[in-house]
Amino acid sequence: AEAGAVTATLTPMMAQYFEIKSVNPGYLLFYRMGDFYELFFEDAEIASAALGIVLTKRGKHLGEDIGMCGVPIHAANDYLNKLIKLGHRVAICEQVEDPAEAKKRGSKSVVKREVVRLVTPGTLTEDDHLDARSANYLAALAMVRHGDADFALAWADISTGETFVSDLSAEQVQDELARIAPAELLLPDAARQALVDRHLFAPAWASIATPIPAEAASSETAMPLLRAAFPGDRFDPSALSRAGRAALGALVGYVGESQKGRMAPLRPPQSNPAETVMSIDAATRASLEILLTQRGQTRGSLRQSIDLTVTAPGARLLATRLAAPLRQAAAVNERLDAVSRLVDDTLLRGRLRQELKSAPDLARALSRLALERGGPRDLACIGKAVAAALTISAHLSRQPDLPPVLERLTATLGAAPQDLASEFASALDDDLPLLARDGGFLRAGYDGTLDEERALGRETRAVVAALQARLMDETDVRSLKIKHNGVLGFFVEVPATHGQKLLEAPHRETFIHRQTLANAMRFTTTELAELEGRIARAQDAALEIELAVFARLRAQALARTAALQGLADALAELDVTAALAEVSATRGYCRPTIDDSLHFAISGGRHPVVELMVKAEGHSFVANDADLSGSEDIGGGSLWLVTGPNMGGKSTFLRQNALIAILAQMGCYVPADSAHIGVVDRLFSRVGASDDIAHGRSTFMVEMVETAAILNRATRRSLVVLDEIGRGTATFDGLSIAWAAVEALHETTGCRALFATHFHELTSLAKTLSRVANVTMKVREWEGEVVFLHEVGPGAADRSYGIQVARLAGLPEPVISRAKQVLDVLEQRSAGTASSSQKASVLDDLPLFAHQPAPARKEKDAVYEALDTLRPDELTPRQAIDALYQLKKIR
Ligand code: ADP
Repeated sequence: AEAGAVTATLTPMMAQYFEIKSVNPGYLLFYRMGDFYELFFEDAEIASAALGIVLTKRGKHLGEDIGMCGVPIHAANDYLNKLIKLGHRVAICEQVEDPAEAKKRGSKSVVKREVVRLVTPGTLTEDDHLDARSANYLAALAMVRHGDADFALAWADISTGETFVSDLSAEQVQDELARIAPAELLLPDAARQALVDRHLFAPAWASIATPIPAEAASSETAMPLLRAAFPGDRFDPSALSRAGRAALGALVGYVGESQKGRMAPLRPPQSNPAETVMSIDAATRASLEILLTQRGQTRGSLRQSIDLTVTAPGARLLATRLAAPLRQAAAVNERLDAVSRLVDDTLLRGRLRQELKSAPDLARALSRLALERGGPRDLACIGKAVAAALTISAHLSRQPDLPPVLERLTATLGAAPQDLASEFASALDDDLPLLARDGGFLRAGYDGTLDEERALGRETRAVVAALQARLMDETDVRSLKIKHNGVLGFFVEVPATHGQKLLEAPHRETFIHRQTLANAMRFTTTELAELEGRIARAQDAALEIELAVFARLRAQALARTAALQGLADALAELDVTAALAEVSATRGYCRPTIDDSLHFAISGGRHPVVELMVKAEGHSFVANDADLSGSEDIGGGSLWLVTGPNMGGKSTFLRQNALIAILAQMGCYVPADSAHIGVVDRLFSRVGASDDIAHGRSTFMVEMVETAAILNRATRRSLVVLDEIGRGTATFDGLSIAWAAVEALHETTGCRALFATHFHELTSLAKTLSRVANVTMKVREWEGEVVFLHEVGPGAADRSYGIQVARLAGLPEPVISRAKQVLDVLEQRSAGTASSSQKASVLDDLPLFAHQPAPARKEKDAVYEALDTLRPDELTPRQAIDALYQLKKIR
């Protein structure tokens, strides 16, 4: 009743606005008015602040000014993009009838409007909104309390139609979401609460989660939705688990709602069970910088360093594969066979990569067409992709002895619908408008009636030209011109000085005055108006024909959706294969031997990313061996304890081995002279954590939680890489925990492991544990300075060289010599003592620190300023040493 009362006081337009707004809560409403989308009230305030556009007023509501701001239609995409990036959701509300229709109903009635689309981070399809080289996933999580699986996750990229579903345990949810990295996660409250209760809810999800009601993620409501979304017999939704149906149903329902009935061309979901891929948890992904660096950038990541794909779909597939290395030796070797063939055949590889460059992003074009957002360029894109596929296939099929993967790709590419390519090529012009309604995209000669209409238009234009000449003669005004603009249509224009003449007899019979400008006068004539009508009719007729042809071509393409999507996959896969071969061939990588053993034997291994950086600086990267091989008979794999000074190359060595495992199992050659790897089922990598204050956990707590995760989850087949765990606490606590962790990994887990540590005491474990070996990063001392050789050798570092590193870093000389004194005393006197309080008492005996004059003020300020800007937690080792050199320069 209250709503009714309010409505009564509203203008009809505002009433309509409120009605639409109320059924789309949580969305900024883009309300179409003429050539603008307008936003009102709070929406206007949010948008004007976010977009930096002017907030104005329009009328009053309940006595208050109504805030309003607008974005012009032609620039709406940019604004939309900004709002989405800032985390807003937008409902696009269009006028769905001709304003003239509304007028017929009465002067007060408003134009019918409807929300035609909800724009959210997970439902984007336009190139403007998307990163061409990254997938954009919408994911939905569902939970069932009893039944086959606890949780299921469904995810899809509606810009390409790729769809997946997988059953998960609560523990697997985190890893899976870390792998997929969705842009938006549909999350029913119950599932969220269950994860929170089990401490399995990652804080990062809060920013991507869209809450959905329980009934939107239920296996019962899902069935009809799924049957409608996946017609035909390619996929049977009842084969999914209950949770799987619920998750996929939630996803499909949300996509349908956001696209207002238009259905994205979702493909039958693939289910790659978590057991078929190497499991890599979120912390490991972050520490190894697989797809993104710790700062969230692509630059400097493993992905960027090996991405030599030449197409955007190829880049997307490469990222997907990097995020999910395989776990079955046979599957890995199949990929390696294909890469190997292209490594060996430089000519073929070059040719394929050249051809692939002309294959556009077929899947995204198809999706836009399906969602009625596609234009002539998308059709052309399909034609070009098909043509490229056929050329490539023809070339490949002439090659002898293709390995199975290339054989399969050749067949798929060869089955590309040739008829579509030739039809589109003959129909579509070379220069195409973005939108079909702009017209002018069909080639001359393609459609007879269209050509006639166009000819009519052209002839009439010739008649207009003749008319201009005749009027010029009749009036004797040489400067008379026939022009055209959007307001007047065609008109006759003469300079103001001649205008009067046309207003008088005899010319006033012919010329009808339309407009007077400062220096010109404009007229029309009956004949001109008639011609104009003829031209407009011809144009309308032409456009109508073009739109009909567009609709027909679009339908032709969509009828082939499944085949075209398969084709898109094949092109992407070939691109990835050729790109990996290019990396392998040009960077001296070797083909790894992959089997089911417990080997991990790398000789001459390098870090794929650091190697590039070191080389770019003109240095050479020092290759290092690693052998963690073991067997069931001796209780599992080996564990190497790595000691050595800071900056000695420990982290680089540790990570390079983890990255080599990833590259090998995704099906790429590896940066090494040789590599023999028994498939790794789970990969763990941890770097001694820095304080996670933002999430209220101390360094120590973070380390312990993560170490616990490893000890609880690693298996004999796993590879564990631990870098300075235990650092975050008092020495003896840390040492004890590190000690116990090494013992547990060795005795219980038996996994292959690398363990870098500053606790030299740990190295004595090698005496008692049979599969533990000590290695150290070699350094050379030269005139009191250390030189890092970055070379891994047997043995344990006898000392940390902390003071030498400090000198390298430019610590003032007096501090260095004082530190040496302290160290000497500590080393001499504390040989037998154990507790830190005893060490402190030893220090009490030291002579007083000789005071040094403070550095000159100017230098001091510069140093302080430089120090203030340093963020140690955000620096890579390389940046840290650079920063230190910068500091030293200040002196
Ligand atoms: P640590 O972990 O022992 O402190 P890092 O692994 O961070 O040392 O290495 C420090 C720097 O040394 C790296 O950023 C890199 O520039 C260089 N470096 C490390 N390993 C090598 C290597 N094998 N060859 C050449 N340079 C290396």
